[in-house]
This record gives sequence, C-alpha cells and structure tokens, in this order.
Amino acid sequence: MGAKVAAKLAARGLATLQDLWLLLPKGYEDRTRLTPIRGLQAGVAAQVEGRVEAVERGFRYRPTLRVAIGDDSLSTLVLRFFHFRAAQAAQFVPGSRIRCYGTPRPGQHGLEIVHPSYRLLDGADGEALGERLDPVYPAIEGIGPATLRKLIGLALDRLPDADALELLPANALEARALPTLREALLTVHRPPADADIAALTAGVHPAQRRLALEELLAHHLSLRRQRIALQSQGARPLAGGALAARLQATLPFVLTDAQLRVLDEVRADMARPVPMLRLVQGDVGSGKTVVAALAAMLAVEDGRQAALMAPTELLAEQHLASLRAWLEPLGVQVAWLAGKVTGRTRSTALAQVASGEAQVVVGTHALMQQAVAFRDLALAIVDEQHRFGVHQRLALRDKGADGDRVPHQLVMTATPIPRTLAMAAYADLDVSAIDQLPPGRTPVQTVVLGAGRRPELIERIRTACAGGRQAYWVCTLIDESDEVVAQSAQSTYDALREALPGVRVGLVHGRMKAGEKQAAMRAFKDGGIDLLVATTVIEVGVDVPNASLMIVENAERLGLAQLHQLRGRVGRGSEASSCVLLYQSPLASMARQRLETMRRTSDGFVIAEKDLELRGPGELLGTRQTGLAAFRLADLARDADLLPAVHRLGEGLLREAPDVADRLVERWIGSAARYASA
Ligand code: ADP
Ligand code: MG
Repeated sequence: MGAKVAAKLAARGLATLQDLWLLLPKGYEDRTRLTPIRGLQAGVAAQVEGRVEAVERGFRYRPTLRVAIGDDSLSTLVLRFFHFRAAQAAQFVPGSRIRCYGTPRPGQHGLEIVHPSYRLLDGADGEALGERLDPVYPAIEGIGPATLRKLIGLALDRLPDADALELLPANALEARALPTLREALLTVHRPPADADIAALTAGVHPAQRRLALEELLAHHLSLRRQRIALQSQGARPLAGGALAARLQATLPFVLTDAQLRVLDEVRADMARPVPMLRLVQGDVGSGKTVVAALAAMLAVEDGRQAALMAPTELLAEQHLASLRAWLEPLGVQVAWLAGKVTGRTRSTALAQVASGEAQVVVGTHALMQQAVAFRDLALAIVDEQHRFGVHQRLALRDKGADGDRVPHQLVMTATPIPRTLAMAAYADLDVSAIDQLPPGRTPVQTVVLGAGRRPELIERIRTACAGGRQAYWVCTLIDESDEVVAQSAQSTYDALREALPGVRVGLVHGRMKAGEKQAAMRAFKDGGIDLLVATTVIEVGVDVPNASLMIVENAERLGLAQLHQLRGRVGRGSEASSCVLLYQSPLASMARQRLETMRRTSDGFVIAEKDLELRGPGELLGTRQTGLAAFRLADLARDADLLPAVHRLGEGLLREAPDVADRLVERWIGSAARYASA
C-alpha cells in the first residue's frame, strides 16, 4: 500500500499484518437473499429489489432525495438520501430496477432506509445473489470500505500455516472442538458459502468462539500481569487496629455482618507488605463510607495519612461531614481539598497535607493536582470509582509512591458488577461485597406510571410533605445539553411551586453555581426544604434519610444503573419510601424491560445482571472504568461460559509458558497494554 494509506492505518494502531488479521468484522451483511418489501421489519437489515416508482427532491431544511421503490409484494419502501450528487439523483429513473441493502426505520410514510447501499440493475433477468456473507469492518477514517476489505484480503493471503500461528495448546482446542486460529480467521473474514449464517450473525460460530476464547485469554493475562507487577511492589504493612476499634466503639450504630467481613478483608490486605488493591462493591446505602473511615484509621494509627477522593463536590462534602463527625472526637485531623477551596484556605490545607498535620484528606479531583504533596500517604481511597478513569486512580496512588513502595488502594463502587463480568474485568484486583443493608430500612416501593398521571402526584407530594417527610422530583433529559435540562428543571420548579403553595420547594441543577447548589442541598438535608427539584446531579451518594418519596420524570430515558442509583436516594431512613417512575408513551421494548426490572427488584446485583443482558458489557464497563481496551470480538455476556476455561488456561500459561502469555497479550492488546506497569 502507499504511504498515505499506511499512515491512516497507523493512526488506528494498525501497523503489521497481524493487526489486519485481527481487525475483525463487526458484523455481516447478508446479500445471499432478497426480502419482499412487505416482509421488512424496522431495525432488521435486509436486501430488497424493486422498481423505482417515484423520485422527489426536497430542500426544506436541507437537500433530500426520496426514492420510492415497489416490488411484487405490492408494498413501497422509501430510500432517503441527504448527501447526493446531481448525477446520482438523475440515475433514479422511474421504472428502473434497483437492488439495495440497509436497515429500514419507520418514516413519514411507512418504512424507509436512509443511505442504503444500492446498485441499479440493467439486465432484464435478476442478477445473481451474493454467495457468502459480506464482512463489515469497523470504519477507518480516510479509507473506504472497499479498500479496507482489499487490504485485509491481501493480508490474509499472507497468513502463515496453522502451526506457526497457533498459540493455544492443541488439547484446549480439541476439547471444545474449536478450529485453529488460521482456520478461524479465514472463516470470519471470508465466510464460506455453506457457513452457518445464523451462527455467524449471532457471533456464536465455532470460529468466533475460538477467537473470543483467545481474546478473553489475552485480556485476562494482561490484567493478571498488571496484578503481578503491582504485587512485586512493596507497601508498608499497617497492622494496628486500636484506633479503628475506638472509632467503631463510638459510632452511633453497630456495623452489619457484611461490613465487618469486608473490614476484615481490608485489614488482612493492609497488614501485608504488598499493596492492597481492593474493590468494595456495595449497594447504595450499604454503608461503604464507614468501612473506608475505619481503614483510614489503620494509616492514621501508624502515623501516616489516608486520602478519600470522590467524583463530585457534593459527595466529597458529605464525606467530609461524616468523617469530621466521626474522627474529630478522636482527635484525628481531617483536611478538605476541592476545586472551590482557593486562596488562603487552600494554601493552609496544602501546608497541612504536606506537613502531615492533616491525617485524613477528603476531596475531589483537586486531590490529584500537582501542587498537592502528602507527607506520607499510606492509603488512597477512591469512592464511586467508575466515575474516575484508571489514570486518575493511579495519579492519586502515585502521590504516595516512595521508591519501590506504593500506598494501599481501596476503591468503592455502588454500581455492582455481575459476577461473570467481575471475574473478567477485575482479574487485577480483589473484590469484596457489602451485600447487606443496615437494619431498619424498609424496601422502597416502586411504581411505574404514564406521564399523564402526573397530576395525582402533586397530591401525593402534598400529603408526604404535610406529614413532615421530604421528596425529590428528578428531571431528566438525557442527550440534551446541561442548559436544556436546567431550563426544564427550572420550569418544573416554577410549576410545582405554584401547584404546591405551603410546600417549601428547592432547585438544584448543573448550571447553578457550586455555592447555590450546595446551599440548596444543605437546606434539603437540614429539612429547610420539603421538595427538591433536581437534575441527575443528585445521583451520586447524597444521603437524606428523611426523604421518602422520589419522582423521576422521563424515567424511560435512563439506564438501569442510573435509575438504581437515583432510587437509592430514598429508603435510607426507617420510613416506608416510594419511587415513582414516570414515562412518556410509547415505551420501547428495552425501556419497558428496564422499568419492569426496577419495579420488580431492588437488588443491585440482579439489576446489574439485567443491565448486562440489555446493554452488553461494553457500556457497562467502559474502558474508563477498567482500563481494558474494548474487545474486538468477545462479548462478555454472550461468551461468559468461556470464562472458567479462560481462567484455567491463563493460570496454566502463566505458570508454564510465560513467553506464550506475553505473545498473546502482545497479539491482541499490543500497545493498548500500556498500563502493564500499573
Ligand atoms: P453507601 O454505601 O451508599 O456509600 P453510606 O456509606 O453513605 O452508603 O451509608 C449510608 C448511611 O447509612 C449513612 O448515613 C451511614 O452513616 C449509615 N450507616 C452505615 N452503616 C450503618 C450501619 N451498620 N447501621 C446503620 N446505619 C449505617
Ligand atoms: Mg457512598
């Protein structure tokens, strides 16, 4: 290929033949058959053939070209183009025959396909149909699909023989009747005419299973290597416990068994001379913060420091308040660092952090800033870790790096991850679960209502507030700008104020100044506001036990994890709480399933499993969350049954053939494995 094409491929990390072999199809187009127009389904890609019946060019908002075609099934399909040249438009002569491929969507007049791939047919007889599935490759900037397909074809012509290419032990493949890598690659790139089309489209063909096995193995090995690298570093053992015991004795509540168990796990880790890297999963309200505070006491007792970083100022402030209330009576100094801490206050805080006078430091991203230097950071705690990137977690950890030694790390999340996924995604860390809520909480009752029922809710809020309870009204408009959401929150706020005289209404949204936001939140927390109209800024961690009613507007637009987080804001006190999910009709099937799941269960793990099923792991675990590169082909939900084998193979290779393990990681992850030393 020429230098220009090579440069464009290189920009996508494609530098070698192997990179092209592993640039796998993201799907297939089935041009082996024709679908009658009448049989088309919205959202299901298909090939159709018909005659042009009418052509219309419009210029209303932007130039459009609409071509109506019909076939023997006596139905009409509209092809719609937004980008087209005059010559292209002129090709569509009524009566001419056309074959096209695309995904139909509901349009103004029945189904339409926007920008189908198409071909005009000239012969009177039908042209032959495709014989095999056409692979569809991920788009690469500046390289057309045809060129890309050709390049991959040329690369495949240079595939070495099966033995030279193979890295997996033969018995592992035989046991599962899986093909060699060579055969698998040829099958997925050039599916033979007799290949099982349904299996290939579903991603469960043996060739795909084989590739998924190898890819999952490579990722597993990469994470294991990270863990091994981490464990080869040292950490100072923190083996005390007297201060933690004192804190535990002064708490206004008794720890749950789950908290005690997780605390034991954390203490055992921290007592060792290797750095802890432990994830504490626990549903909203399960009480993770106090476990973190108790862990911090181990550092403090040893004369060292602990830091707690949270993703939002609101949440960090809440942690600050909890920690100060718990720790100051014990004589432990807690410092505060956030974006809004400036000037003299900031320099004082920085000085206290640097001198060690501040024994526990609570803050936001501001903790990672360059100017922040700890005297001796021994424990880095990251709350709601999925809101941070791996790099950010590492940046905080590195604040405590000292020669070969690094601090212990405790990361916490209220977004539980299904067990299967946790195995694959967190092979580099240890996982604990606080799988029990503190006693005395009554489960939140959830109802799902059409938006038309909104007026009834006004009454419900009035009653709740008259009874001394508090309520949230959550406005959501995902996909819209902050500003639009802020406006809608503002108008909801105005309307509710008018409808509910006598009820003290507050407002929080992302467009407000930090000080105003905090003032409103604080007023709500202190009981000075009865009804808080808010955007999803209240999603993370905010704790107001007296709030027992939550209404979420446009709930159909939110993902399960987010709905679960939101709902966790109520049901934190002893009062029976309810959550009303309002939706706009019509409900799409996925949205209906999400709302139904919310109605049925409040178990975060069950919700996470459902989320995985509905959304797929790619979205559940963005690369942000795990530092994993996205998979090329493997799908953790679909291929979960391979994971036990992946683990066995992985441990075997690390023990017996570490060089093969390295080559697997290099092959599949290559440059993306740059976190290897993390
Ligand atoms: P999360 O796990 O969602 O971060 P928090 O740490 O914010 O939960 O705890 C929620 C609330 O429960 C806080 O008010 C906390 O003080 C309280 N809490 C924590 N543990 C217990 C317990 N064992 N018994 C009673 N209340 C508890
Ligand atoms: Mg929390």
